[in-house]
Amino acid sequence: MDTTDKLTEIFKEFPGVGVRQARRFVYFLMSRNGEYANNLIKLVSDLKKEISQCNECYRFFISNNGKICEICKDSNTDTSLLMIVEKDSDLESVRKSRVYVGKYFILGGLVPIVEKTTKSRVRIEELKTKVKKESAKIKEIILAFSLSPQGDHTDFYVRSQLKEIAEQNNIKLSSLGRGLSTGTELEYSDNDTLKNALKNRQ
Ligand SMILES: [Zn+2]
Repeated sequence: MDTTDKLTEIFKEFPGVGVRQARRFVYFLMSRNGEYANNLIKLVSDLKKEISQCNECYRFFISNNGKICEICKDSNTDTSLLMIVEKDSDLESVRKSRVYVGKYFILGGLVPIVEKTTKSRVRIEELKTKVKKESAKIKEIILAFSLSPQGDHTDFYVRSQLKEIAEQNNIKLSSLGRGLSTGTELEYSDNDTLKNALKNRQ
């Protein structure tokens, strides 16, 4: 494998990028000068140095050596609400929309429909531990996964895993309403759609 193949393999792992697009990225980099490449290398390396994963919600954030992100630290956050999302970009869209003021938890993926080893893929044990620990504060857990068969399956799976703890502690389990149309990714939803989905949660 030469360098172009190796780079293509790396770009192919990026979300939403196929092999042809990965190749185009490589050719694009070839056409740029050395300064462009050095700047890219520096930014990637800085990113890894500056970023931490929050101990509470598992989002990536610019840490300055902190362990808890600014959302989890914020005293204005409504601690009675916990929203479970698939990934960082979903959290960012909900946060930007300003329609939700509670806490978040990033599950780290969707649960595959036909796979037996779900536990290793998503943070379900971490989620259960968190809910147990904060059961006195949490009044509602909102499941906010994309409206796809895999999103529905994840919704079903997380509900079944949290059912007992929720019942014992009087915590309501809800899912984002059908304001989002089928196949919609949370991260691409606009403010009105998110607002409706949140209002119509059930
Ligand atoms: Zn956090």
